[in-house]
Amino acid sequence: MSGRRHAVVVIGAGQAGLSMSHCLTRRGVDHVVLERDRVGHEWRARRWDSFCLVTPNWQCRLPGFPYAGTDPDGFMRRDEIVRYLEDYAASFGPPVLEGVTATRLTASGTGFELETGAGTIGAGQVVVATGPYQEPVIPRMAERIPPGVTQIHSGDYRDPGALPPGEVLVVGSGQSGCQIAEDLHLAGRRVHLAVGSAPRVSRFYRGRDVVAWLDLMGYYERPIESFADHDAIRARANHYVTGRDGGRDIDLRAFARDGMRLYGRLAGVGDGRFTFGGGLERDLDHADAVSDGVKDSIDAFVADHGIQAPAEPRYVPVWRPEGTPDHLDTARVAAVVWCTGFRRDYRWIRVPVFDGTGYPSHHRGVTRVPGLYFLGLPWLHTWGSGRFSGVAADAEHLARHIGSSGHHAPRPAAAPSGHHYFVHPELLGT
Ligand SMILES: Cc1cc2nc3c(=O)[nH]c(=O)nc-3n(C[C@H](O)[C@H](O)[C@H](O)COP(=O)(O)OP(=O)(O)OC[C@H]3O[C@@H](n4cnc5c(N)ncnc54)[C@H](O)[C@@H]3O)c2cc1C
Repeated sequence: MSGRRHAVVVIGAGQAGLSMSHCLTRRGVDHVVLERDRVGHEWRARRWDSFCLVTPNWQCRLPGFPYAGTDPDGFMRRDEIVRYLEDYAASFGPPVLEGVTATRLTASGTGFELETGAGTIGAGQVVVATGPYQEPVIPRMAERIPPGVTQIHSGDYRDPGALPPGEVLVVGSGQSGCQIAEDLHLAGRRVHLAVGSAPRVSRFYRGRDVVAWLDLMGYYERPIESFADHDAIRARANHYVTGRDGGRDIDLRAFARDGMRLYGRLAGVGDGRFTFGGGLERDLDHADAVSDGVKDSIDAFVADHGIQAPAEPRYVPVWRPEGTPDHLDTARVAAVVWCTGFRRDYRWIRVPVFDGTGYPSHHRGVTRVPGLYFLGLPWLHTWGSGRFSGVAADAEHLARHIGSSGHHAPRPAAAPSGHHYFVHPELLGT
């Protein structure tokens, strides 16, 4: 590949990179997409066997390729998601080079220079679409767990049968932690779950999927600039809910009632024990309060618009922590599944666009370095920017910018002046 030069190089061929390529292809812009593995690698390689989308299928609306299956209100399973991405790629033939990793990006006089495993190439402009969830995060206390206990990160979890027989500690109660804990629980495993502060949301309320209500309420159109604290919103944990079996709530209290052991946050490992903090009751109450706050905002919307929607009683807790143990013997546990998230890895980008936290400074993906863009990050612009629902609009925005002559970052759009329904701030997960 050495010596090649393209007007635009897109890095990453997940949904974001493919969307970018679609928008550039439509405009006839010369480009290439570099992909370390294969198209849709993350969905293939880092999701468990029973995984399905949490967002309804109708929200899969990649540029020029909205979901056209028979179950728009359903939730595609992992292999269907991979097929959707493969079909998307087949629909327009993006110039993807698979098995090529970008290892170093530097600015050069006329644009950028990219070192890759297959040689050095030049680029007039570069779009980084390497995904929001790159490196698994496992806290270092893991090193103190006895070697006989199997440890994996959620990205490597496949199914209950792949773990050694015995009891399992799941650490973390975001989307992945709750869904993996449920997967193990349904398979008859004794599960211990270290619960954190992630909020929850109901799947359905007053006759509709909550996502459908929020869509009607204009929530998914709201730009990040219309909220007071951008950084906090971008850093927030996902609210937990599932699309499994057609979609339902995840109720940790019901799991506990049915035999799962809930604890506070994992605080330490030592002397043959896992030790836990004492915030379980507070965190469960908080998750319910967030869910209720979302329902409040739906009620207000329904009332304001005179919408006919069946009334629905509010959730009543089915279990409360009483005398929750603050430790668990490591000898009881055969495996630990770390559902403790991911971090970004931009060490290979040697261009000064990052802030003090290592986050790329940008406005809707356009950085202050002319010609360098980011796409697919959570809340890049809206809630859906890091998901199937909102990446199309961002890719279109970048394509317009790439196509225009100037390289200057546009000024942030003013917050829309229309009325916005209150949505509990904790709903604003990443
Ligand atoms: C557990 C989980 C559940 C989710 N559920 C939903 C959901 O229900 N609905 C929804 O809309 N979204 C969901 N998401 C969020 C989002 O849709 C996914 O994270 C999605 O994979 C993001 O797409 P992407 O294209 O931005 O990045 P990715 O899919 O991560 O793709 C990035 C690509 O870049 C490649 N790459 C990385 N570094 C390099 C490099 N240096 N050189 C070359 N190639 C590189 C990778 O191999 C990868 O293929 C979920 C995410 C997770 C983790």
